[in-house]
Amino acid sequence: MARITATINPVHADGTDCTHKVTTTGKPKEAGCTGRSAYVATCSACSWTETNSIKAALEYVRDTHLRSHLAKPATATVSA
Ligand SMILES: [Zn+2]
Ligand SMILES: [Zn+2]
Repeated sequence: MARITATINPVHADGTDCTHKVTTTGKPKEAGCTGRSAYVATCSACSWTETNSIKAALEYVRDTHLRSHLAKPATATVSA
């Protein structure tokens, strides 16, 4: 059985991925960056995605989703 992972990536207000450096409060530090407004979690095993402006809340939802795939929660791989 393949490992299932769900990754969390920061996104701009328009939904595009933010790979820029930002301050601890999410303010942009590089040209072309509009700042991080939310985080998006995507699952490697299905088309599930979830968006939340609070990363800790999204991590909780992500972990709950991963458990829904697996009979044994301990085998789930969590990557932030
Ligand atoms: Zn950015
Ligand atoms: Zn899934």
